Amino acid sequence: MSPILAAIIAAAFGALIGSFLNVCIYRLPIGKSIVWPASACPSCGRSLSWFENIPVLSYLALGGRCRSCKNGISIRYPIVELLTALLFGAAWWYYGPGALAVSRIIFGSALIVLFAIDLEHQILPNVITLPGVMVGFAFSFFTEPGWQSSLIGIVVGGGSLYAIAEGYYFVRREEGLGMGDVKMLAMIGAFLGWQLTLVTLMMASFAGSIIGVALIALRRGDMKYALPFGTFLSLGAALAATVGGPILDWYIGLW
Ligand SMILES: [Zn+2]
Repeated sequence: MSPILAAIIAAAFGALIGSFLNVCIYRLPIGKSIVWPASACPSCGRSLSWFENIPVLSYLALGGRCRSCKNGISIRYPIVELLTALLFGAAWWYYGPGALAVSRIIFGSALIVLFAIDLEHQILPNVITLPGVMVGFAFSFFTEPGWQSSLIGIVVGGGSLYAIAEGYYFVRREEGLGMGDVKMLAMIGAFLGWQLTLVTLMMASFAGSIIGVALIALRRGDMKYALPFGTFLSLGAALAATVGGPILDWYIGLW
């Protein structure tokens, strides 16, 4: 099979998984089961038929509204489905069939869920991050980054952020970073290894500072405005996983 065709099939499968990620994003924070019952309209509770459950296409066909109650359906649904399709297609095409592609796809799916939940609820569920640490470490025995780098990543990733969180609390007497961020960075360490975890932390802090300063400049928030750091960690990790290697080489070349 040609690599392009394989990537297209992977993307179509990714869109279906994106539907499932939407279910996780909606139900995990409110403590509902992710396997039962079938998807329903969040506004009127009517169960969706199969033709209302087709990724992206149903949203477009229905004009972003529920067929019964006419309430708007969040744009998050098609965005998550498209993003997951892109993740699957791009990873399969870029890495080729194998353990690395599967590892990156699982990692990327976890990042999408964590990004969306942290943005809306400011929480990072343990049910994603803790199994994520185990899965990332398990994959490291077969592919990048290798189990040593993965193990150091878990310890350094979790440990460094834990130290920052404790330090922040010591100075400010309030929580700046939660333990959710610590567990999430341990998961990132497990999947990417310690080098790219440092790149992730650098990029997340950089993006966080820029957006924080922009918010202050626009007077939309003051220094205490709590930005969900997990969303920045997701962005940073996605960048580190894709362009982190060349950035690391460039940075080391400066010395
Ligand atoms: Zn409805």
